[in-house]
Amino acid sequence: MESKRKCDPELGRKVNDYLIGLGLETPMTGVRKDFDAEEAIAAIKGNMTNIMEALGLDLKDDSLQDTPKRVAQMFVNEIFWGLDYDRFPKCTKIENKMNYKGSFVLERNINVQSYCEHHFIVIDGVASVAYLPDKYVLGLSKLNRIVQFFSKRPQVQERLTEQIRAAIAFVAETEDVAVQIDGAHFCVKSRGIQDLRSTTATFSASGVFSEGSQRQEFLAGCRSLMG
Ligand SMILES: [Zn+2]
Repeated sequence: MESKRKCDPELGRKVNDYLIGLGLETPMTGVRKDFDAEEAIAAIKGNMTNIMEALGLDLKDDSLQDTPKRVAQMFVNEIFWGLDYDRFPKCTKIENKMNYKGSFVLERNINVQSYCEHHFIVIDGVASVAYLPDKYVLGLSKLNRIVQFFSKRPQVQERLTEQIRAAIAFVAETEDVAVQIDGAHFCVKSRGIQDLRSTTATFSASGVFSEGSQRQEFLAGCRSLMG
């Protein structure tokens, strides 16, 4: 989880409103407004205990006894903290005084560790993100941090891709954004169809990336990486 120093709750709330306006926000109830991490951990711990007991596991065993608490803390603090807009990354941007406008900025090979919201099982992926600076240039690691924030939720890859694109457009104040994600879904590997090698590719683009040469250049840039 991000340290509070690197977070911008106010920007987070604006991004939240923006995504709601676009119909791209993760479905959440009003409970989230009064979110209390300790309360959530206690509730999840109790329910995880029920799940393990229903499976017939002996929670008195020293190897199992701390699992409900461990899972609850993991959900809230480690793998689903991206539901909490207080944790939205601080996004330093500078004026585009260098007038960088000729070509886009492309950040590739960004790690995506997310969780399928249908099964709560790992999605392991790689993202490429591009934007064409207008008035502002974003610090490069901010692209990675925005990808990470929206990954740390129960997700479907299609929504994840759209949320990242919309958030970068909002933060960088440019319509010209493209996002491509290639993800391996462990719910497809380990259960259901049990296909070990298939991956899912998603792509979202707006502004100059919607069609034409910039779109082709972006997709070629992504392909050159994956080989
Ligand atoms: Zn799934």
